[in-house]
Amino acid sequence: MSTSAPVALAKAATYDPAEILAAVRGCLGHQGGIRAWVKPGQRVLLKPNLLGGFPVERAVTTHPAVIRAVALLVREAGGEPWIGDSPGMGALDKVASRCGLEPVLAETGARLVDFSEAAEYPVPGHRVVPQLTLTRVLREVDVIISLPKLKTHGHLVMTGALKNQYGLIPGSLKSQWHFRLRQPEWMAALILDIDRVARPALAIMDAVVAMEGAGPSAGQPRPVGALLAGACLVSVDVVACQLIGLQPPQVPVLAAAASQQYGTTDPRKIEVLGGDWRSLRVPDFAPVPHLADVQRLVPLPAFVLRWIRRLWTARPRILPHCTQCGICAAGCPVKPTAIHPDRTGGGPQVEDHRCICCYCCHEFCPQHAIELRQSWLARRISLGRLADRATRWLS
Ligand code: SF4
Ligand code: SF4
Repeated sequence: MSTSAPVALAKAATYDPAEILAAVRGCLGHQGGIRAWVKPGQRVLLKPNLLGGFPVERAVTTHPAVIRAVALLVREAGGEPWIGDSPGMGALDKVASRCGLEPVLAETGARLVDFSEAAEYPVPGHRVVPQLTLTRVLREVDVIISLPKLKTHGHLVMTGALKNQYGLIPGSLKSQWHFRLRQPEWMAALILDIDRVARPALAIMDAVVAMEGAGPSAGQPRPVGALLAGACLVSVDVVACQLIGLQPPQVPVLAAAASQQYGTTDPRKIEVLGGDWRSLRVPDFAPVPHLADVQRLVPLPAFVLRWIRRLWTARPRILPHCTQCGICAAGCPVKPTAIHPDRTGGGPQVEDHRCICCYCCHEFCPQHAIELRQSWLARRISLGRLADRATRWLS
């Protein structure tokens, strides 16, 4: 499991390769340098966020300049960099190409590995399942370095270091978990179980340009100007969420970590090296608009929370510029699919009674042609105000 450790912070205003390399080197320098984690001859898996084949400037995926810098440092330490992920949509080689990784692979000699082959792993101290099916690559590497992108997330409020490991689940198995674990808190528990198995040595987060609003794929790029690195993924996420104006209890994965006493979620107990994180805070960072405040209704019983959440939950709706590529339907974990982009002449394009609101379709759509439309109730009553009143009433 991740252990408590300091988080190093470095400023980086642009993705200039030299600036990023210096920033990553600076972050790691506070913690003993890359050689503290990588020994000569070790195979080192770099796990960026390669959700899909999105252009770099959309800020959906980890920037290639960050991946390049870490791969070069791994080489410097005598390690062998492997770069791998299981994209939510598309084959890894095509996704890597669209995400600007070809020059990185050529320059660093890193090996691109896909996660399609699976293996079974026991989960020590599990909370969801005693055994998980993850990529076989975990057995073939000596060290894992997670390279997340800081983004908002429709289902889990924020995606960072811990959530990035969801990509260790091979291919369509991810959809099956979405179907089985419909509540954010259940998915959060699974993500912690994945961390118990994978145990990355380090996370280096790309928050140079983050994503705000309708993340993790349809939001807007938002400069934050930071790189964060730390051996405790929980701590890295805690510092990251503070940069974008979230509190740890608002993020289901961090709320789960707090309840399981998994890592340190109290920001006051996390040492930040390399500068004051407050100087990089983006006070008006736009959150995912519809879910964050639900977490504040903590005093209510879980079944009431679920009922309220269902009433307020945003629903996917297909917009007119849909090209009917079918990616959303293919990725929908509900079988038969709950979304029907080809129903242009009648019948619901989204079957609300069957949709589990996992937002995979929204995440996968390459055209930004799916919006998450707030419910009638949510448009009239702010869940945040309701949460405030309920908390006051119950206290
Ligand atoms: S909504 Fe998006 S993913 Fe679905 S068919 Fe239309 S363009 Fe493709
Ligand atoms: S329609 Fe979209 S949000 Fe609903 S279950 Fe399918 S993929 Fe998930």
